[in-house]
Amino acid sequence: MSSFPSRRGFLLGVSGLAGAGLGAGARNQPGLPASGGLARVQGAFIDSRRVLLWECTRKEIREALEGGRLKAAIVPTGSTEQHNEHLAMIQDTASAVLVAQQAALQLWPQVTVATPVAVGISPYWMERPGTLTLRPETYLAMVYDICDSLRQHGLKTIFIVNGHGGNDKPLREHLAEFRSKLGVNIDACSYWDAFAEAANREEAKKYMETGIENIPGHSAEFETSFALAAFPERVHRDGVDYEKVRLNLKDPKDAADDRRYYYESLKARAEKGEALMRIAVDWVADRLRRMIAAS
Ligand SMILES: [Zn+2]
Repeated sequence: MSSFPSRRGFLLGVSGLAGAGLGAGARNQPGLPASGGLARVQGAFIDSRRVLLWECTRKEIREALEGGRLKAAIVPTGSTEQHNEHLAMIQDTASAVLVAQQAALQLWPQVTVATPVAVGISPYWMERPGTLTLRPETYLAMVYDICDSLRQHGLKTIFIVNGHGGNDKPLREHLAEFRSKLGVNIDACSYWDAFAEAANREEAKKYMETGIENIPGHSAEFETSFALAAFPERVHRDGVDYEKVRLNLKDPKDAADDRRYYYESLKARAEKGEALMRIAVDWVADRLRRMIAAS
C-alpha cells in the first residue's frame, strides 16, 4: 500500500460530489445520481452533467446529434438491493453511473450516458429486506428498449456498462440477439471486467488485502472502498454490530457469508477505491474509444 494516486484530479468534475453530485442530497432524485461540478476536459472546463442524457435539454442533444459530435451512448445498469448493513441499496447503480460518466468525460464530447436501469436481477437477495428485483425478461426488455430508443435517434455505437453481478450472465447471453435485432455496434461489460486483464489485475493486487478474487465481491473490501471514494455519504457504519445483528436467514452459510463480507469491508479505504475506480474508468473509456473508432 505504498503509493496511492493523489486525490486531486482523481475524478473529473466531482469536486462537489458529496453535496451536489452523486450524493443522495435533496437536489437529486435518489437512484438518478447526477454528478455536477466543472470538469477540465481537453483543456476546457465543462459542466460534468452535460454527459448525462437525463440532465440535458432537447436542444443540447439535438445539436450534438445534428452536428455529428455525439457518436456513442453508454447504458448503465445496476440494482437496488441490500448491500449488507452498511452500504446503500443503490450502490451498484451509482457505481455503474459513476464509471460511465467518468469514461464519457474522458471521451467528451462524443458520448452520452443514458438514464440507468436502476433495478436489476436480484432474486437471491429477496430474503434480505429492501431488495427490489426484476424478472430477467423485464430487465432485458428495459435494456433493449433503451438501446432501441438511442438507435432511433441515430446513435450507432452503444456500450452497456453494468454494475450488478446478477445482470451479467443474462446480458452476455442476449448480446448477440440485441446486436442482430438493433443492427448497431453494441457491446456490454460489467465494469469489474477491467480486472480480468493481466496488467490491471496485477495493479489491483496491490490494493486488495482480501485478495483479487474478491473483486467485485459483495459489500466487502472492493465495493466499500469504491463507495468511500465516490460517495462516502452512502457508507453508514454507525450502529452496525455484527455480533448482535439477527438476520433471520434460512441458510446458516448465508449468515456466515454476510458476516464475512462485513469484516472484509473493514479493510476498505477511499484511497483503494480511487485507484481501483481509475482502472475501471480507463478500461471502459478505452474500450468505447475503440468501438467508436471501428464504427
Ligand atoms: Zn453490489
